[in-house]
Amino acid sequence: MIHEILPVGLLQCNCSIFGDETTREAIVIDPGDEIDDILGILKKHQLRVKAIVITHAHIDHIGGAAKLKSATGAPVYMNSADQELYDNLDVQSSWLGMPRMERTEIDVAAKEGQTVALGDTPFHILETPGHTQGSISIWIPAESKLVAGDTLFRDSIGRTDLPGGDSRKILRSIHTKLLTLPEEAQVIPGHGPNTTIGREKERNPFLS
Ligand SMILES: [Zn+2]
Repeated sequence: MIHEILPVGLLQCNCSIFGDETTREAIVIDPGDEIDDILGILKKHQLRVKAIVITHAHIDHIGGAAKLKSATGAPVYMNSADQELYDNLDVQSSWLGMPRMERTEIDVAAKEGQTVALGDTPFHILETPGHTQGSISIWIPAESKLVAGDTLFRDSIGRTDLPGGDSRKILRSIHTKLLTLPEEAQVIPGHGPNTTIGREKERNPFLS
């Protein structure tokens, strides 16, 4: 499995590009910005995008989705509980002093229990609300990797003081959905360095 992590945009959101060596299909998670660079990586590996998956509707994670969709024709997956947040994308860009971003329709409502397959490898959608109401994480058992969006970070957890945030919900999501995964599983957070489930179980000060 090809996996490239590209920090994109002002807030350096980690965009993950997964590619299957046999089918040359790709899944792009959180194309927040810098779509030309993402397209460059896809071209380098000769990949065709099958799905664009959004962990949550904050602009730094979803800002480039419309551009990537128009360049590739791939459907956009997002949890419908974040639709209202997405409808207010212009409010988010004005808070951050960022230019307005182009919007796209959400093609598939990403739900708990749903999978998106890349070749023979299923990517499982986990609903992990708390940072936003519709936050999801993506678990890839065959790779032992979790793409955690802004739910879990190395030594930290997602902020819950923005609209839709809920501090009790994020802790429940992390304890019931994420810390129950294998300890050796690699975690790719929405920002900053990777970690493992075991490390965060042991050392994350917000989870003890
Ligand atoms: Zn966020």
